[in-house]
Amino acid sequence: MLPVLCYHKVGPSGREGRFLNVEPRRLESHVRFFARRGRRFVAARDLAGLWPLRAVCLTFDDAYASTLEHGVSVLSRHGVTASFFAVARFVGATSSWDADRARPLATWDRLRDAQRAGFEIGNHSASHPRFADLDEAACAHEVAEAHRTLLENGLVPGSFCYPYGSRGPAAERALRNGPYPVALILGKRPARPADDPLAIPRVVVGYSDGLPKLLYKLHVRPLLGGTVPVPSAKLRG
Ligand SMILES: [Zn+2]
Repeated sequence: MLPVLCYHKVGPSGREGRFLNVEPRRLESHVRFFARRGRRFVAARDLAGLWPLRAVCLTFDDAYASTLEHGVSVLSRHGVTASFFAVARFVGATSSWDADRARPLATWDRLRDAQRAGFEIGNHSASHPRFADLDEAACAHEVAEAHRTLLENGLVPGSFCYPYGSRGPAAERALRNGPYPVALILGKRPARPADDPLAIPRVVVGYSDGLPKLLYKLHVRPLLGGTVPVPSAKLRG
């Protein structure tokens, strides 16, 4: 089994609040934990073929400015890679889909710097819609427009991440005919080699997920069949 974790913002709560945010020191405690246990950090695009033994994959949705600042700093200090998923039309703007909790998103320069430093910048759609609400052509257009825009700005996305984890049969068909061998959804368990590479589940990490709660989500909750919800857990993309 391979833990694929879904983070969003990484920043001081005094500035970023708690919504979709993890403090940098908390992210660091997670990185230390997996590194000490000999886990190899891989990017989402690395999930296309055979998985390395004892791997872990950290992913960060929306490419918030705070994440590219504080998250990259923590990850670089430990020499580990990860994937950041950018929303092509909103790079350098704000996460307006978060409504009154919108926050600044990283600029193209920041994303290129991160790619140069060994991180993957993946495709998180053009406009952050719920793919389950779109027909196949609209899904394909969202993926293709974002792919083209990322390439035009010097980025090389190798995987796709569904906004909100939202996916229906039309989206599935669009992704099967799309440019990526890997797509990520949300789930409540670690990924397994038998999983469809175009529907790899990720466990959402929230503000209050210290190590005990994170390990509960990864190792205990799946055994309970998802019948026991974790208080305050939010499924968000
Ligand atoms: Zn998102």
